[in-house]
Amino acid sequence: MDVRVSHVRKEFDRFPALHEVSLDIKSGELIALLGPSGSGKTTLLRLIAGLERPTSGKIFFGDTDASEKSVQERNIGFVFQHYALFRHMTILENVSFGLKVRPRSTRPPAGEIRRRAMELLDLVQLSGLEKRYPSQLSGGQRQRVALARALAIEPAVLLLDEPFGALDAQVRRELRKWLREIHERTGHTTVFVTHDQEEALELADRLCVMSQGKIEQVGTPDTVYDTPSSPFVFGFIGESSELPVTVERGDVWLGDRPLGISAADGQGPAKLFFRPHDIELVEGDAALRGVVATSRRVGGTRRVELELGGASHRVEIDLPFDHPAGERSQISFRPKRWTLFPAT
Ligand code: ATP
Repeated sequence: MDVRVSHVRKEFDRFPALHEVSLDIKSGELIALLGPSGSGKTTLLRLIAGLERPTSGKIFFGDTDASEKSVQERNIGFVFQHYALFRHMTILENVSFGLKVRPRSTRPPAGEIRRRAMELLDLVQLSGLEKRYPSQLSGGQRQRVALARALAIEPAVLLLDEPFGALDAQVRRELRKWLREIHERTGHTTVFVTHDQEEALELADRLCVMSQGKIEQVGTPDTVYDTPSSPFVFGFIGESSELPVTVERGDVWLGDRPLGISAADGQGPAKLFFRPHDIELVEGDAALRGVVATSRRVGGTRRVELELGGASHRVEIDLPFDHPAGERSQISFRPKRWTLFPAT
């Protein structure tokens, strides 16, 4: 089912949690809503679910205006950060619940419900644990039950709100891979809320980056990472270094120093953004030159913080070797890939 959020605004007591946002979610895609705390991710998810009503604007499920429909009418599968499993029910009963409470006219026969629930437990790799209670499972296993329960009703849309937020880093990584596999097998239209950019980059077909109740950019992980549309997105997705520069007749300058890179258009003050790994070491004057301030290990490389222009600016670059800090450690480099934004 494709979902169209059209000019939706949401206020809480006159506070605009969402300014007019529009978003087309394609049938079968996994889209991640990504942004810092308070950017409006959960509000947008709750509006899609039908747990909140828009102050203005509409939400379409396929061609149908769903704005006034309830959660049940929209047929939503939900997984939250804190497992909302029923504690007094077994795992099998939890997964069967959504089908058992259906009105008689749409409820499958008991045998069919059981068969479907067992199939889903197999899909989430929990076969054999169906008689256990939630308290007898690990956090990761409980989230897998929650997903099986959400899938049992064959939802039109699956909504996941920080589903792995409460789990430790390793379990998170495993569940991420696993969710991607399940998604490929089941193909549900899925909206996933996270503030973890690594999780979003790895999992999603497309990212929707949000800030202060607005959508900043929507695109594939590659597009958003390689061509961020704003300084906010550049800084939020991946590591970034930023310098205030001037563009003059196609050349980029930091103060009175030419950087040896050219700008196709634009003139005057600008912000230069680049990623720590997108640099090359160079000789000569047309380059950035700095003194090593700090150096630390990041995975297989060293992340080195350089002071430029007499300590007036700091940037981070990645080097394949260690460098002692101090005046004697001067490094000249040039960004290999960069983005210029107008300085506003
Ligand atoms: P987080 O990552 O912290 O969950 P978020 O991006 O999901 O943040 P929302 O929960 O959507 O952000 O909140 C967006 C803004 O709307 C916040 O400023 C929040 O305080 C406000 N807000 C959300 N729900 C309500 C509510 N029920 N009443 C009043 N204000 C609310």
